[in-house]
Amino acid sequence: MIITESSSVPLEKCPALVLNADYRPLSYYPLSLWCWQDAVRDVFLDRVTIVSVYDREIRSPSFKMKLPSVISLKKYIKPSEFPNFTRFNVFLRDKFTCQYCESSKNLTFDHVIPKSRGGVTCWENVVTACCVCNVKKGGKLPHMSGMFPKLKPKKPTVEELHDNGKFFPPNFLHQSWLDYLYWDVKLET
Ligand SMILES: [Zn+2]
Repeated sequence: MIITESSSVPLEKCPALVLNADYRPLSYYPLSLWCWQDAVRDVFLDRVTIVSVYDREIRSPSFKMKLPSVISLKKYIKPSEFPNFTRFNVFLRDKFTCQYCESSKNLTFDHVIPKSRGGVTCWENVVTACCVCNVKKGGKLPHMSGMFPKLKPKKPTVEELHDNGKFFPPNFLHQSWLDYLYWDVKLET
């Protein structure tokens, strides 16, 4: 869904897309968005440049401004090669499907080697699982339960998550963001 610009749009529906100093999104997954208060604060602190604005004004007795819809950092932040180990990114790596039965409902996490048997919480030992499979496997090792993940879990690169993310776009995209989000998508030949 693309939000159209209208003064009736509530302020909390006006987040700013945050770009790095090279005009690439600071992060794709999750998409780097700041609430309007943070965006406006950093405009006043001179930390960001306004790239595009909403057709939505905020006013006080002494000033008025259009809310930024896209901002870029003045100081470049080196992006990491590997994404953060977060719940969202584990789901994204596994394309939001249970690694045991391929269900996409009631998802949670499963430690391939259970924590009770010394399994650690890391990319290589945590997979997306539905609650049913998670309970079924319980504290057993894969060879005891006969349940093996479809794909051997590993640490994904930012690029791999980016590829998977194309299948799971954010809930909404403002039209002013599109130039910055998909410019590096490979064209179909
Ligand atoms: Zn399952």
